[in-house]
Amino acid sequence: MNIRANIPMPTAVVPPAIREGLSTARPMLIDGKWVAAQSGKTFEVFDPATGETIAHVAEGDKADVDLAVKAARRAFEAGPWAQMTPSERGRIIHCIGDLILDNIDELATIEALDNGKPKAVAKAADVTLSADMFHYMSGWATKLEGKHIPISALTAPGAEFVSMTRMEPIGVVGQIIPWNFPLLMAAWKLAPALTTGCTVVLKVAEETPLSALRLGELILEAGVPAGVVNIIPGFGETAGAALAEHPNVDKVAFTGSTEVGRLIVHAASRDLKKVSLELGGKSPNIVLGDADPELAIAGATAAIFFNHGQCCNAGSRLFVQRNLFDKVVEGVAAEADKIKLGPGLTEDTEMGPQVSRVQYDRVTGYLASGTEEGARAICGGEGLGGSGYFVAPTVLVDTKPEMKVVREEIFGPVLVASRFDEVDDALVAEANNTIYDLAAGVWSGDSARALRIANRLRAGTVWINCYHVFDAALPFGGYKQSGWGREMGQAVLSNYLETKAITTRIG
Ligand code: ADP
Repeated sequence: MNIRANIPMPTAVVPPAIREGLSTARPMLIDGKWVAAQSGKTFEVFDPATGETIAHVAEGDKADVDLAVKAARRAFEAGPWAQMTPSERGRIIHCIGDLILDNIDELATIEALDNGKPKAVAKAADVTLSADMFHYMSGWATKLEGKHIPISALTAPGAEFVSMTRMEPIGVVGQIIPWNFPLLMAAWKLAPALTTGCTVVLKVAEETPLSALRLGELILEAGVPAGVVNIIPGFGETAGAALAEHPNVDKVAFTGSTEVGRLIVHAASRDLKKVSLELGGKSPNIVLGDADPELAIAGATAAIFFNHGQCCNAGSRLFVQRNLFDKVVEGVAAEADKIKLGPGLTEDTEMGPQVSRVQYDRVTGYLASGTEEGARAICGGEGLGGSGYFVAPTVLVDTKPEMKVVREEIFGPVLVASRFDEVDDALVAEANNTIYDLAAGVWSGDSARALRIANRLRAGTVWINCYHVFDAALPFGGYKQSGWGREMGQAVLSNYLETKAITTRIG
């Protein structure tokens, strides 16, 4: 029984300034100018809370990608960006962060409207962390140091050399991002590429192009020269594919599904472009019998339901030791039932809709498959129907390891919970039993014990007694089919740098 089915959904009021800004078709950014698509085509952007059209946006395709890549190539090889000192580059990147904060309310409003997430969350997380990413990365512009390396030069006895390495930008970068954190994903990608001196063509997700287009305006306002950042809204199979296979792109950085990640690798393989990928997950969240149950309940709830479950690192497989299983799982279900669903722009909304009809159908399809295979929903279990894309936060029990809902990434507010008896090899093996391995959580009163488990989990990030703690300084990315390379921190810089070794004979 879905206790939410008969509760009417509140309606949200879009601020007039935002409505006005969206009343004409939004162009794309190529070579420092805002332009229509070469084809003249636009596509519709929907409010996921109502299914209504909120904007029309220029539909980028192969011809637009080509112009953008040419502009990025020119900007990389000549012009002010290529000649700029690291210090000047760093100051401009820092200024982008400042401008994001100056416009925090507008950006959070756009994000709430376009993606559906609560505006307060967009403000506290998406926009704040986006600004921080530019601020953090701006400091690296002046610290991309090479090394002086003593060499033995065995083939030239008696000769003397000085050898050093230089870190150089990889060139023109094609970046393709998803819809779950539209502004933040743009920041994760753009900030390190800019700090290393690369130029960029960014393909934003067709579901959520609006905040990145506003960011483009702020990027120009900060003083980024024409052609350094080009922003193309458009569809994956057209604009995205054209960018991934473009012969004049040196590197592709992708965040999205593992399925599309494979297509990107295939497209990039002809020219052997460098590729970095941040892909899907099915992350285990493990509650040991000695954990503080209240902490674990709050943590496991946030781990799966934050951002409506639309996080690649969502803690979607909950493992709880037998003595705490009923308390923790029933506690999470009780919390889930209390979560207030509504449009992102309604003040007391705690969880918005899924981003699109496609995602709604996908998540509800998984719920149906779970029930068919014998899983039981102890809360939620259904989509709410109607014109918006709301799905009730759901906890499934009585699951088996081979069920689709346990194996596959659902990317929605659906938790599968199972119990274990001992903290042993079998528990670690089951936690690691996935094609993904992006993140994991461990909850325990004994941090040394939790750390021993963390060391054995094959995951790019492990949180102990916390979850979803992200920081611009911390590397994030996956093992196995969760991706290649890392986002954020010092680690991401290597995605955008080539190492050149220079040797000089001095005697
Ligand atoms: P999700 O399943 O989360 O929607 P996708 O992996 O489908 O994520 O999409 C992430 C990004 O990849 C989006 O910008 C989308 O347009 C783009 N994309 C989808 N298909 C392709 C493709 N064949 N080639 C390049 N980009 C693609």
